[in-house]
Amino acid sequence: MDAPYCNVALPVPLRTTFTYAVPESLRGAVQPGTRVLVPFRKKSMVGVVVELVEQAPSGTKVREIAKVMEFAPALTPKLIELAHWIAGYYLAPVGEVFRSMLPPLTELRSHREIVLTQAGRNAVESLGGQEPSHRLTTAERAFLEKMHVRKGAAPISLAAKAGITSAMLQKLQQRGLIEIRESLLGKKRKPLPRLLKLAHISRPLIDRMLRDAVVESWEEPIDPAEDPFDTGYTPPAHALNEEQESAMKLIRARFELGEFGVQLLHGVTGSGKTEVYLRSVQETLARGKTALILVPEIALTLWIGRQCRAWFGAKFEGVAVLHSALSDVERAREWWRVRNGEARVVVGTRSAVFVPLQNVGLIIVDEEQENSYKQEETPRYNGRDVAILRAKMEGALALLGSATPSLETYHHARNGKYELLTLASRVENRSLANVEIIDLREDFQQTHQTNPISSKLHAAIQESLAAGTQALVLINRRGYSWSVLCRSCGASVQCANCSISMTYHKHRNRLECHYCGSIQPVPKQCPKCQSQYVYFFGEGSEHLEERLRKEFPGARIARLDRDTARTKRQYQETLGAFAAGALDILVGTQMLAKGHDFQRVTLVGVVSADSSLSLPDFRAAERTFQLLTQVAGRAGRGELPGRVLIQTFYTEHYAIQDSVNQDYASFFERELHFRRMMAYPPFTSLANVIVRNTSQEKAIQWSRQLSEYFSPHDGKGARILGPAAAPLARLKKEHRYQFLLKSPKRSVLTKLLTGALAFCDAKEIPQTAILVDMDPLSLL
Ligand SMILES: [Zn+2]
Ligand SMILES: [Zn+2]
Repeated sequence: MDAPYCNVALPVPLRTTFTYAVPESLRGAVQPGTRVLVPFRKKSMVGVVVELVEQAPSGTKVREIAKVMEFAPALTPKLIELAHWIAGYYLAPVGEVFRSMLPPLTELRSHREIVLTQAGRNAVESLGGQEPSHRLTTAERAFLEKMHVRKGAAPISLAAKAGITSAMLQKLQQRGLIEIRESLLGKKRKPLPRLLKLAHISRPLIDRMLRDAVVESWEEPIDPAEDPFDTGYTPPAHALNEEQESAMKLIRARFELGEFGVQLLHGVTGSGKTEVYLRSVQETLARGKTALILVPEIALTLWIGRQCRAWFGAKFEGVAVLHSALSDVERAREWWRVRNGEARVVVGTRSAVFVPLQNVGLIIVDEEQENSYKQEETPRYNGRDVAILRAKMEGALALLGSATPSLETYHHARNGKYELLTLASRVENRSLANVEIIDLREDFQQTHQTNPISSKLHAAIQESLAAGTQALVLINRRGYSWSVLCRSCGASVQCANCSISMTYHKHRNRLECHYCGSIQPVPKQCPKCQSQYVYFFGEGSEHLEERLRKEFPGARIARLDRDTARTKRQYQETLGAFAAGALDILVGTQMLAKGHDFQRVTLVGVVSADSSLSLPDFRAAERTFQLLTQVAGRAGRGELPGRVLIQTFYTEHYAIQDSVNQDYASFFERELHFRRMMAYPPFTSLANVIVRNTSQEKAIQWSRQLSEYFSPHDGKGARILGPAAAPLARLKKEHRYQFLLKSPKRSVLTKLLTGALAFCDAKEIPQTAILVDMDPLSLL
């Protein structure tokens, strides 16, 4: 327990830990999982102790831990084990894995402050002019005077501004005139200014009182009871129907075994999966264990969190909710409530898979196929797969739920690796919505117009308005027009940083890149040939909203996409208004497709099923089927029957045909056949490797070098394709080249990539230039 050294994981993009000495005084306080402040290069950083060691690597100068951040280790031994597994499996820098596990404190780099000591104060006061100068230079003297006037602590940057070097600071410190201290204050507390104004107290006074511990400051999380979703909400039923009951029986049997297992709850939309989740959580708690519920998006944490409260009683404080829209303070507090055993149920999005729950009995992954479980930055883990591994480490049950499971998951359920539980009918025997295809070719022949709202969809919306019910209209792209073309020379306006066309946003009157966020003014003439014939092409959600307002002048219409729902509040307001019946038509992107239970929606229109189907990606058909099935599930959830209209040019495609019949089994068979033929998951494991740099020359040179490493391995248990220009050949100013690795055995890929990364290190290719994506969800 009191080893003299420890290895610390730091939040830097390097695949290694760092050894530090544990000072005598801190021995015993430093344990695996403890957060510590350490010197790193020229600054201080908070890291996590990964293990205690008896010896330091020879030949390097070992520095000492400066401070222990908390009394209790932030991470449990199981979470440390999980982090190592993730770093190994996804070939990710271990420090970055730990960073994504921990509550906010680690993100706050320490900053240094300067304080004038009493001796310093005396010195300044005696600087009357006669006294030579206290051996101070003019700059030092001016600086001390400034500090004196200032009274409180000053950030270290103030010294730099006054021309004081760090050597000068050291000298002043040695002479006892100033004190330099590390500070790990959190972010400025937002409601404080208002409070101060009300109480007529000045900020410096409060700061001093805080410093002297006369007062305490913290942030109150928003009261969950103020959730604007509450309009027209009916709590979930406690009574289960026959199908739900038999699913529960199988879940209970698993609990009886008391060992690791994976179950897939495959239930059509509206079949009452949530009730099964809640009942399983209840039984887990009754067995003295804890439960984790992962959901694919923030809105659903509120939804499920509220159902938990309704189910377990409003006073049930044992539920913690974790997602990325919480403030740092809220998130840290929820996290520590779990760590201290106060919360025994956690509802959260992807990163909640790392909560420090102990004695876990159940991990639920709702809508397990969702893209949002995959983190698209380092570490590139899939929350669902990590959940399954964590359940294995805890000896718990992993319960995956979906109406449209991913091919991989359903494949495992069919071959017996997972246990399959099915809910084939909707609750209260409500029928599934009636889905119809509108052939856009036919519509064009009849109307000779390319209107994104076909005559049939127009008539259906009209009917819905007349009946006083509600309609959802889905379009896959946001913005006004997603391409700006020149009719004269054919050039399109591209982003300066990415190889992607700019999207026109009419209301903001500018072009935006949806990948890097850069903006450009709307061109009056072609930037290439200067012709006047600039033409906006491809309608997005903003354009569609405008069109609907024109076609249905009296209707109450709102739009929901990432432009209108910039904040959690805006998002909830729009959905709340729709749920309350204050809107007739809601138009938006796939944000509309998920989860929400709107009772008065009788019509769902999909403007084009083709934009997702035509993507050059092996999951295009699967994504399209999932999206269409989910959005169809939004119609007819209440007493009123639902109708769904899907517009397409590819009427014969099986992804569209099967979604019309809501026939998952048929889709699965056809898609599985395609995957087998093309050697894609679930038959092969994939890894995507991107070599990137702002210099194209370097990116090419490094991919050539990497290719030298890969080529002798090609065909020996793995297929290696590339290097080729990535589909997004340029992104955020970086040129990108891509290798695609395929193997029936994942272990082969892991070995190959571990070797590749070591090779890159040996060739001094920067670690940040090589991006490894294991089990990529998309190859775009
Ligand atoms: Zn032109
Ligand atoms: Zn861009």
